[in-house]
Amino acid sequence: EGSWESLYRVVLLGDPGVGKTSLVNLFAGVQDKDPPEQQREDSYERTLSVDGEETTLMVIDTWETEKRPPEEDNWFHNYCMQVGNAYVIVYSITDRGSFESASELRIQLRRTRQAENIPIILVGNKTDLVRCREVSVEEGRACAVVFDCKFIETSAALQHNVTELFEGVVRQIRLRRDSK
Ligand code: GDP
Repeated sequence: EGSWESLYRVVLLGDPGVGKTSLVNLFAGVQDKDPPEQQREDSYERTLSVDGEETTLMVIDTWETEKRPPEEDNWFHNYCMQVGNAYVIVYSITDRGSFESASELRIQLRRTRQAENIPIILVGNKTDLVRCREVSVEEGRACAVVFDCKFIETSAALQHNVTELFEGVVRQIRLRRDSK
């Protein structure tokens, strides 16, 4: 068994500003809250021990896409839609537009990866901003049912449910692997 066997690519998708980079930084254990742009990475690799078994995740943040020229941007987006072994679709509970984008992304994924049963986790981030909430927990949960994916609410700011999110990704990947 080479290490490749247990390396999985996890792609984070979602509107700009919903907290993808913050979630990835917590995953990677990056201490600096706002690392200078040139220190940011496209992807981070970390081995997690979940239920007594180790799995390595390579988490790919799609933050750069906003800064690329349109052709490249498109290419990168399509690339990300192809290479993920699992997807984390993030919206902000304070931004209804980002919630609608999440549904759009789910539809795109279904179209691109039709035949495959890839794990997808819908994430409502920024739960600490209680008074700015525009999307209820029930709506998030209902959306996940319709789109046949897992659902979790997180707060990157309070580091709430972030570990649970990535452990959940690992468990979803294993469920598919073990049922093959
Ligand atoms: P990205 O564009 O999706 O990668 O989003 P970022 O991770 O860059 O976050 C955008 C802004 O939202 C930054 O100012 C973050 O500090 C802030 N942010 C991210 N997650 C949270 C959260 O859970 N709660 C709060 N209050 N702010 C957050």
